[in-house]
Amino acid sequence: MSNQSLSFIHDSLPQKIRFGFGEASANLLEEVRTRNAQSVMVIAGEPEMPIAKQVASEIEVAVWHSDVVMHVPIETAQAAREVAVDNQVDLLVCVGGGSTTGLAKAVALETGIPIVAVPTTYAGSEATNVWGLTEEKRKTTGVDIKVLPETVIYDSKLTLSLPVEMSVASGLNGMAHCVDSLWAPKADPINAALAGEGIRALSAGLPKIVEDSQSIEGRDEALYGAYLSAVSFASAGSGLHHKICHVLGGTFNLPHAQTHATILPYVLAFNAPYAPGAEQRMAAAFGTQTGLEGLQQLREKVNAPARLSDYGFSADGIPEAVSIVLEKVPANNPREVTEENLTQLLTAALNGDDPAILSN
Ligand code: NAD
Repeated sequence: MSNQSLSFIHDSLPQKIRFGFGEASANLLEEVRTRNAQSVMVIAGEPEMPIAKQVASEIEVAVWHSDVVMHVPIETAQAAREVAVDNQVDLLVCVGGGSTTGLAKAVALETGIPIVAVPTTYAGSEATNVWGLTEEKRKTTGVDIKVLPETVIYDSKLTLSLPVEMSVASGLNGMAHCVDSLWAPKADPINAALAGEGIRALSAGLPKIVEDSQSIEGRDEALYGAYLSAVSFASAGSGLHHKICHVLGGTFNLPHAQTHATILPYVLAFNAPYAPGAEQRMAAAFGTQTGLEGLQQLREKVNAPARLSDYGFSADGIPEAVSIVLEKVPANNPREVTEENLTQLLTAALNGDDPAILSN
């Protein structure tokens, strides 16, 4: 019998979840009534506006705002803040993916106005207290409880229109939250349990969506998994995977979900042999011998994004990426990260090489 004791500190974020297929507009009405909101601002990018109109069909909307830009440029945030203040907005409702949620968070950060989030992708921003803003091509992120949506309304009916390719990339972005949580700076047994269930749910849901984009079961499982993935990530913090993707997105402007989806098997293969607890958790969640085997089987089934060269990255960017990432590697990463092995990792991801070459 082992005599090792458990010792950790875990923060849980306060948030209400309303989950139900086809129930978003009724749930939003309930939220607006309970809060007695008098001036509601609905934020949704142009492409998501028809979904937002449907979700908000039962409430009175004071102002619609559709100027959404990925990575929240500061000018976009400032304009939305002015609209909120001018209209004496007392509730922000964001309907869309991580870009839309990000804009609502930027408004809440300055004004303190509460958010009800209605996500339509699997990015998971709605369940974190992390904000991001881009100023002069540099993305800054921070943590503030003011930006955590007070309520999240999940309705997988709203995700039926998300194209399969985007669903796969976004779902694997969720998967990356789970996997990276297992070795992130504040990894603990609670966020590991959430991550394990997130891996199971996403790996069950995504193949069903690829087989039939209208699969309610697949969409529900993916959305539920995406929520768990974000809760585990918000609690555990950013591990090596997120540090790499942040640099590739911020400095090289690579697309968010696709970059996460591509990098994940390489970081998993790199770290897992040095993280036996994480390895056990992933293998159990996938139902395979190892985490890498489970992830690769899933990636094959869903035709996952495979190489960074498909998204505008090239070999001449590797030295700069390596030097920025090296400054940000979490001190507790299970494996020592060097210029040499990080170059090898990024080169393999650039070309879509077999990730197993990193497992030594
Ligand atoms: P996104 O919000 O830009 O959406 C991707 C694309 O899908 C867009 O073209 C959008 O119009 C479309 N789309 C969204 N929902 C749709 C639907 N139901 N049907 C049809 N099309 C739909 O991308 P994303 O991957 O969801 O989010 C990425 C952003 O979120 C990045 O800026 C990232 O940094 C941020 N993010 C933040 C956190 C956090 O904790 N703060 C977490 C994850 C992601």
